[in-house]
Amino acid sequence: MYDQHTADVPPARPAHEPTTVERGSFCTARCACGWSGPARRSRDRARADADEHRTTA
Ligand SMILES: [Zn+2]
Repeated sequence: MYDQHTADVPPARPAHEPTTVERGSFCTARCACGWSGPARRSRDRARADADEHRTTA
C-alpha cells in the first residue's frame, strides 16, 4: 500500500502570475501557463498586458 492521495489536495489550478521580460528595446509579458503578450516598446504597456491576462485568464 502506498500513500493515498485523496481529496485532500485540491486540483492544481495554474496560478497566473505574468512577469514582464525585456528583449532588446521591447518588453513582453509572459506567464507560466505559456501565454505571452505582444512585444511592447513600453514596459507599462507590457505590464498592462500582464494585468489583463491575470484578470481574464
Ligand atoms: Zn497565465
